[in-house]
Amino acid sequence: MSISQLAREIKESPTLALNLKAQILRDKGEAVVHLGAGEPKSKVPVDAILAAAGKLSTADIRYTPTEGIPQLLKAIVRYTEENYNKVVGPENVLVANGAKQAFYNLMMTLINPQEEVIILAPYWVSYPEIVKMVYGVPVIVTPEDGRFQPRMEDIVKCVSSYTRAIVVNSPNNPSGAVYSEELIAELVAYCERKGIYLIMDDIYHKLVFDGVQAPSVYKFSKDDTDSSKLIVVNGVSKLYAMTGFRIGWIVANRKIMQAMINVQAQNTSCPPIIEQAAAAGALTGVQSGVESLRLTLQNNRDVMVRELKAFTGVRLIPPQGTFYCLPDFSAYERDSIKLSKFLLEKALVVAVPGKEFGMEGHLRLSYCGTIKEIMTGVERIKWALDPESPNEIYIGDRKMRRDWI
Ligand code: PMP
Repeated sequence: MSISQLAREIKESPTLALNLKAQILRDKGEAVVHLGAGEPKSKVPVDAILAAAGKLSTADIRYTPTEGIPQLLKAIVRYTEENYNKVVGPENVLVANGAKQAFYNLMMTLINPQEEVIILAPYWVSYPEIVKMVYGVPVIVTPEDGRFQPRMEDIVKCVSSYTRAIVVNSPNNPSGAVYSEELIAELVAYCERKGIYLIMDDIYHKLVFDGVQAPSVYKFSKDDTDSSKLIVVNGVSKLYAMTGFRIGWIVANRKIMQAMINVQAQNTSCPPIIEQAAAAGALTGVQSGVESLRLTLQNNRDVMVRELKAFTGVRLIPPQGTFYCLPDFSAYERDSIKLSKFLLEKALVVAVPGKEFGMEGHLRLSYCGTIKEIMTGVERIKWALDPESPNEIYIGDRKMRRDWI
């Protein structure tokens, strides 16, 4: 078959594949509980909708500058100043079709074949695959057993003469961990000293709980010049519940930007103008939706943690941000792919295998749905795994009897 070797090596997106399976089951009328979702359920901000509708109604829908419309670039410049206390110009910003494409274009721009990108486990599933898509080599750093924050010394051990970049995602998908100020400060100092790019994926940076704040890389930077090694990835998908709009961005030095604009010009010309208008509307409009989403998620997180704590054998480090947690189910089953399949089949619960995030023995459970979904989902998992839970349960309107333990 004439499929390229590269394409054959790229893994299917496990989260999107599970979504599809869940949808097929739902279409058959099965009462699936989805704890695998990666998007908030709140409504898109009205300012985004009005801006998109306003643009659409002009019937003047054209290409835009490759890097994005001036109004959105300006909104991102302002966002960066307000949230990070960092002054950048529009020439430091590139808007892409989601943070995912922004990261892909960044990798295209920075990485030569065989160069290495350090990725901290547990990691977002797409980082290693995207690095491979530009013929780079992902190098995974795994924290000590049972922790979600790697140690600096373990990161340093993985640096070689081929290392071009370190990718950090905090608050972290899938663990919900927020990395300490100390680690971020050490990473910034190390990368600036070594000339390695430090890429911060900040897509969840405001979705933090209990007064915890995600430390900003800019706070520790000593290099304010045009060759700064710090790169920030962000977007409207999570904070503004705008996953379907596909707008993300990168803030970086001008040299990177100029090259990245050429990359983006050749692979997509520009992000769609209606979506850009919507993102500008979200960023410049009323911001109360972000805080109310954060509060809802904090409450959901509390329920999820409470339910899982009552589950003998499951170990959990409570998440400090995002809408995910990564409990350790290895006391029941070490093979997380097998466990995820089993739970979908027997209990009709979607949970993403930890193996996909570099953490075998764990499952990623989302709490961005309703309280009912969280409680029912955990109750069903418990029924499927824990011999101490009642032997019978209702799934939808069917009474199910457990006959495997
Ligand atoms: N980074 C992380 C850590 C994510 O979890 C996601 C979405 N799952 C993205 C980037 C991509 O977001 P977008 O929808 O903007 O492409």
